[in-house]
Amino acid sequence: MEGKTTKCKSESEAEIPSVPVIEFNPQLYRQRYQFVKDLVDLHEPKKVADLGCGDASLLRQLKIYPCIQLLVGVDIMDEHDLRWNGVKLQPFLGQFLMPRELDLTVILYHGSVVERDSRLLGFDLITCIELIEHLDPDDLARFPEVVFGYLSPSMVVISTPNSEFNPLFEVVTVRDLDHKFEWSRKEFQSWALHVAKTYNYSVEFTGVGKPPAGAESVGFCTQIGIFRKNGGKAAELCVSEQRDQHVYKPVVTISYPSLQQEKYLKTALVSEVWQEVASLRVEYLRGLKEQEEGRELGNQPDACSEAPILWFGPVFTEAGKARIEASSEPFSVKDKFFVPLQRLLAHPRLNHLGASEERMRSLIADSVTLSSDGSAVVTDLHDPPDDDPES
Ligand code: SAM
Repeated sequence: MEGKTTKCKSESEAEIPSVPVIEFNPQLYRQRYQFVKDLVDLHEPKKVADLGCGDASLLRQLKIYPCIQLLVGVDIMDEHDLRWNGVKLQPFLGQFLMPRELDLTVILYHGSVVERDSRLLGFDLITCIELIEHLDPDDLARFPEVVFGYLSPSMVVISTPNSEFNPLFEVVTVRDLDHKFEWSRKEFQSWALHVAKTYNYSVEFTGVGKPPAGAESVGFCTQIGIFRKNGGKAAELCVSEQRDQHVYKPVVTISYPSLQQEKYLKTALVSEVWQEVASLRVEYLRGLKEQEEGRELGNQPDACSEAPILWFGPVFTEAGKARIEASSEPFSVKDKFFVPLQRLLAHPRLNHLGASEERMRSLIADSVTLSSDGSAVVTDLHDPPDDDPES
């Protein structure tokens, strides 16, 4: 926090020493998003829903997490605006070129968080960031039953303004005109403890937006409750009879490219195979040239030059090196260069794609030339074809 100083009074009217005008660094909303991202890092949830997702900024930051496979936003805002927010959730070009390992589906639903929709059952994490203070008393009363009682995710994160912090702002009664209430820590905690007890969750309180020196007693600017379901993971089977209750309107559905999808795995495999074959060919020709020069100079091959030539390329680990050493080496017959599929699969980048030799053979068969027994990629030793990126 930084800025000039001003004089404030706390809610209890106790005099607080001069404190800076409130400016958070990083900005408060960023601290809230970072808080959620840290939880995602720690718990690696697969299914995450952000209720009251607003302009989808948090979802945009969460979509890059490899563990998340289903990312859902729900909001009651104007449907057209919500659909427009989906544009920011589209994959980048780079995500087509280097697809994720696991599938990711992103969905934005138009609807109210106090309506039950079975498509949000069985989630690992549900976030409600600066949402509850926008609910009127009737909706606030229905909210726990829907989120904790019906959706029953493994973890719920709820953030809301801490009204005890408000006197530190220069002119504030409520922080946003749409807020139906702003709670003190005691008010939020007694609501949250009651909800946790009713629906068999535990709750831990924390926050973001530290108060300035001398005003620590007011607590964080944003108070946060982390609710964990007692007994662990959301049990999807228990709620199977409640499925097919579809109330929300899906306005955006995006499927991310991933290596689980055959067309992206194939593209990635073919591209890596071409690159690896090309670099192995260059290395192989260099080795041949060195042997040739050695012979011209009348040098007898010594133990070192007789040793098999190993083409490690960009090998990063001992395990990767060992895989390459154990695999069959590239070889040439007349003017053809052969790279065994086994050798290609030993390369870290190809190995990382996780395809078996059989699968790789069938996926690359129509994009490269294979040897008659299908065990190696064949290319010209000296004049690579036009579509070879090396040529
Ligand atoms: N969570 C977002 C963030 O932190 O950036 C947006 C917070 S914004 C202050 C509150 C959001 O809650 C708004 O987008 C509003 O439309 C949404 N909202 C309010 N009542 C809702 C309801 N009953 N169901 C779904 N969304 C609601």
